[in-house]
Amino acid sequence: METQRTERQSRYPQKKFFHRKKFCRFCSDSNIKIDYKNTAILNNFVTERGKIMPRRITGNCASHQRELAVAIKRSRIIAIMPFVTGDGK
Ligand SMILES: [Zn+2]
Repeated sequence: METQRTERQSRYPQKKFFHRKKFCRFCSDSNIKIDYKNTAILNNFVTERGKIMPRRITGNCASHQRELAVAIKRSRIIAIMPFVTGDGK
């Protein structure tokens, strides 16, 4: 009979990171090139654990997010980016 429902504040958007303008960084700035060798840029789009950030957080457009994901994966394979970091196990 009793319906247990956990009260969640889902009404408010979670701000995981500081408010960032929802705009694709690579579209707005043509100087930035998505390069699998450029970890300085790629590191802006991965979490501390080394995961690729979702588009809803980064604000990238679909095509650039895809390009970025490919670049990050590529740089992981040549071992200049971590697959995962921070976890002791
Ligand atoms: Zn873009």
